[in-house]
Amino acid sequence: MTQKQQENFLKNAILIVDHTKTSLIALVDLDLQNKCLTFEQFLNKNQHEAYHLCYNRSKCCQCVLSYSLPSVRVIHPAQLELLYDKLSPKLTCHGRIVKLRTLPPVCCSLAQTRISTNVLDITLARCILTNFCHEVFWYSCLTFQRKTLEDFLNANKHTIYHLMHHNTNCCQCPLGFVFPCDRPQINQLQWNTMFSSLLLPCANDRKRSYNGTTSICSVSATPWISIHHLDLNLQGVLLQYCCPLRKSVTDLADIRNVNYGHVQEARMSDADYKQVFDEIENNLTAIASVCGNKGEVKQNLQDLQKRTLDKTLCLQYQNSLLEHFRYVNEMKYNLDIYCKEVRSSVGNFKTDISEKISKLANEQTIAAVANDVKDLKIRIPRKLNMYYIQSRREKRAVQHSLAKSARQCKEKSKEVEQKVDFVVESIGDLKMSIDTRFDTVENTVEMMSKNVEELAISIPEKFERCIEEKGNYILSNHIVDLITISKL
Ligand SMILES: [Zn+2]
Ligand SMILES: [Zn+2]
Ligand SMILES: [Zn+2]
Ligand SMILES: [Zn+2]
Repeated sequence: MTQKQQENFLKNAILIVDHTKTSLIALVDLDLQNKCLTFEQFLNKNQHEAYHLCYNRSKCCQCVLSYSLPSVRVIHPAQLELLYDKLSPKLTCHGRIVKLRTLPPVCCSLAQTRISTNVLDITLARCILTNFCHEVFWYSCLTFQRKTLEDFLNANKHTIYHLMHHNTNCCQCPLGFVFPCDRPQINQLQWNTMFSSLLLPCANDRKRSYNGTTSICSVSATPWISIHHLDLNLQGVLLQYCCPLRKSVTDLADIRNVNYGHVQEARMSDADYKQVFDEIENNLTAIASVCGNKGEVKQNLQDLQKRTLDKTLCLQYQNSLLEHFRYVNEMKYNLDIYCKEVRSSVGNFKTDISEKISKLANEQTIAAVANDVKDLKIRIPRKLNMYYIQSRREKRAVQHSLAKSARQCKEKSKEVEQKVDFVVESIGDLKMSIDTRFDTVENTVEMMSKNVEELAISIPEKFERCIEEKGNYILSNHIVDLITISKL
């Protein structure tokens, strides 16, 4: 291990522990100065939110119904107790809802009296800056740059647009554009608040006959818009993605967390040292410009470069950094446990919900059936009644028509009877007339046969006479006569 590499390690450690910390604290101080608050007042003002950055699992005495707890714990109880005095008099609401013995000792506590920002370490400073110091970042983007929020929104319109449309390209996307996030961070309503001024859309979007509300080229920032028009959540998102100063803060805090290898060995190559130094220097300079102490910071960095190795100091920094990594790992471990718990409780919740839904579905089915039954109970008697009335009506109609038929039958049969009587009578008459005629015929026949008998007697007599008296001629005439008569 060369002395140079150890020197590199020490300088790097001083840079990321001391200089970074000083720089972040300077920014907190600037925010306090802009707000005309002492750190104690500032902490008391943000007490409830700060409390839940540590205790994010359950609501406290001050929680209103709509308050949503942060999803992750970002500060440790020990860090919170560094800021707030657990022995201080409590706020009057303390113990209002939750039983006192179940509450953490720091709940509803006031800030440590006359506390200074010097107590802050990098983690705490970053946490306070990103959660409670939106104003200092707005200051860096607006007042410090002599720009309005309208300018800021227009300058960052493309990034902001893709905080809403996180996976679809727009007409202004440069080649190979990398989306800033993997899920939507702002909603349409928030976008509409920020960008309400209409422009003529680009030729492409005009062709697609865009309605103008979602096309990036068809709008610009709302004139005279101010940060008070943006909700706190939206402010946080805009600063996180569009504020260079805020990025410097998070970058500085993150740089400390990625050099674990160097810390374990307490040495650093020239190349690594140069790379980290440049990165830190850029961020420190950016913060110093806003805080107005750029010269001082530059001087401090130059002094650091000239520093020679102090082995005791080196060990101290190494221990301090190792301690920090242990803390980071613990947080990570806690986070993992928490994620597992969340996952399992989400699973339980899902099962519970699906059970409830199926139960509810059953209940609903039963209710629906019961309703149907109730309905049927009314409808069936009604139908039966209707059928009864109808069948009675039909029965009456049938009876009526039967009676009518019977009457008609009776009349017809009487008619037939009369006709039969008449026929019988006629037959009687006919028989009588036939009989009479028959008698007449019989008589005639009898008479004729008598005549024939008489003729039979008279003919031979006449014949003989004829022959005798008038010859054959007269005889033949007589024969003709006789034949004619017999025919009759
Ligand atoms: Zn609360
Ligand atoms: Zn309380
Ligand atoms: Zn785009
Ligand atoms: Zn367009």
